[in-house]
Amino acid sequence: MALDSAGDTSLLLESADVPPVFEQNAAGRSPFLLTCDHYGRLIPRALGDLGLPADEFTRHIAWDIGIAGVAERLAKHLDAHLIAQRYSRLVIDCNRPPVAAGSIPRISEATVIPGNEGLAREATEARRRAIFDPYHRRIDEVIDARLRDQRPTVLVSLHSFTPVYAGIARPWHVGTLYHRDTRLPPLLLKLLRGEAELVVGDNEPYAVSDETDYTIPVHGEARGLMNSGIEIRQDLIAGRAGQSEWAERLARIFGEIEIILRAQGLV
Ligand SMILES: [Zn+2]
Repeated sequence: MALDSAGDTSLLLESADVPPVFEQNAAGRSPFLLTCDHYGRLIPRALGDLGLPADEFTRHIAWDIGIAGVAERLAKHLDAHLIAQRYSRLVIDCNRPPVAAGSIPRISEATVIPGNEGLAREATEARRRAIFDPYHRRIDEVIDARLRDQRPTVLVSLHSFTPVYAGIARPWHVGTLYHRDTRLPPLLLKLLRGEAELVVGDNEPYAVSDETDYTIPVHGEARGLMNSGIEIRQDLIAGRAGQSEWAERLARIFGEIEIILRAQGLV
């Protein structure tokens, strides 16, 4: 149908709603392609407030706190293309397979999301078509174009995690998330662990799986790209100073990784 191929045109998003895909530095020359599934916390006007008080939208359940500021700065430092998604994960989670239970969460941590209760199939599909599909279609298109142009492409998926989840404090400052790639994650872990003051999680606080994740399995692994996710603890990047500090640190580390990968002929 024409509607589906018309990009971000959909029944859910109105003319007053911004498109779901945010891009920065599309002509960036870095081999690193940055994605940010939980960059934003917008709600389409048609969905109101999902039945939640406003303060729930400042919490980690709505988005990855602080990561937008890190992602934008890192893209600039590395001259890397960033593709990010502006709507809240409470509308639809762009890092979950649409068939997964948490794709449109009815409960997040301990918060019930009234606007996600008892959704008809058409409502679920509308969210997917309006937000999930255009975002992932764009990542696909960009990877297609890079492969066609024989440009080296290493996928880095940027996230942040809440310091306390369900009452349990998390000790890590940063974690790598990976599954099948054996090239990038060990390098990233080694260099992060070289930063004396950091507690680094190896697939902590989360590991990647085909059932719970989408961006790494679909755009990284299924495409045969080197890939890793990164999770930064949210209290470290809640403000601009922390975002700048982490962007500079990651830019330095990815710069070193690029040199190593070049020496190995991998990019
Ligand atoms: Zn995330």
